[in-house]
Amino acid sequence: MKINYKPFELNLRHPFTIAKFSRTSTPIMLMEISYEGFTGFGEASMVPYMGESIETANAFMAKVDLSWLKPPFDFDELIAYLDSLATGNPNIKAAIDIALHDLQGKIEQRACYRYFGTDPSKMPPTSYTLGIDTPEVLIRKIKEGENCHIIKVKLGRDNDKELINTIRSVSDKPLYVDANQGWIDRQQGLDMVLWLHEQGVVLIEQPMAKDDPDSNAWITERSPVAIVGDESVQRFADVEKAKGVYHGINMKLMKSAGMHEGYRIIMKAKELGLKTMIGCMSETSCGTLAAAALAPLCDWADLDGPFLTSNNPYKDPEFKDGKWILSDIPGLGLIKP
Ligand code: MG
Repeated sequence: MKINYKPFELNLRHPFTIAKFSRTSTPIMLMEISYEGFTGFGEASMVPYMGESIETANAFMAKVDLSWLKPPFDFDELIAYLDSLATGNPNIKAAIDIALHDLQGKIEQRACYRYFGTDPSKMPPTSYTLGIDTPEVLIRKIKEGENCHIIKVKLGRDNDKELINTIRSVSDKPLYVDANQGWIDRQQGLDMVLWLHEQGVVLIEQPMAKDDPDSNAWITERSPVAIVGDESVQRFADVEKAKGVYHGINMKLMKSAGMHEGYRIIMKAKELGLKTMIGCMSETSCGTLAAAALAPLCDWADLDGPFLTSNNPYKDPEFKDGKWILSDIPGLGLIKP
């Protein structure tokens, strides 16, 4: 098993502002794991608010030894091993997990989605995310995202209504809203939820602070719109805690340490009667295809990485009628340009 990894700065098409941060690029660790002539590709997207960096990824990788691992890979064993090296670092763990899924698919000549019993015809449409911007920029971005049938918008500042009104002046597409923990007062939050409901909003992510289940549950109980936990649900152990607090959860491979645990999180959420969303960080086609392999298991998808970035090192996956298309190419189906 030969491991190669290198840092890559993934540039955003536009500066991206959410309730608490703004940025113009994202550090990525590109991962390649080779075995007997086959190479699997993975990636870690290290958005600053998750706390990982090229430095922490390098330090983690210095501890990783996969010489014991032989195909077919036992992913339970792999994740237990990676967690034994350090408790955090889900981004770089995801890079390893994704590369090994791609590798396994290539060795066995099987598309990755088949390992999860996914039905490609059930692919949910993906939303196109707008950051917090001036009305002029928002309108321009809405035009850029016209291939997507759903708009997701980041709220959590004092001009939230103005933002929604701007979108509604040019588009009647369904809206997903992400408050990114930006709402402070639960009654004001609920008033906003009710107003957003009238504006055609389908779901709202993380209205209140991730460590305030009572306030989030209070809003969920009263909300006619689906309330989805994102920041508060990271690894498998967090899913159970989401029951009774949110209507659904947003699973992301960069939080779940990859596809194996991501799949377990989705299935556990369904078992608990929670709705499921699959989201992403700033990701290349690699992370996007890994998430797309699981997306048909979910109610909602927000996999817009390739649309929001300008130097994706891989070919954009096939996209049609607002949805990613899963191919039968062995592994993830990632194509180098
Ligand atoms: Mg979110």
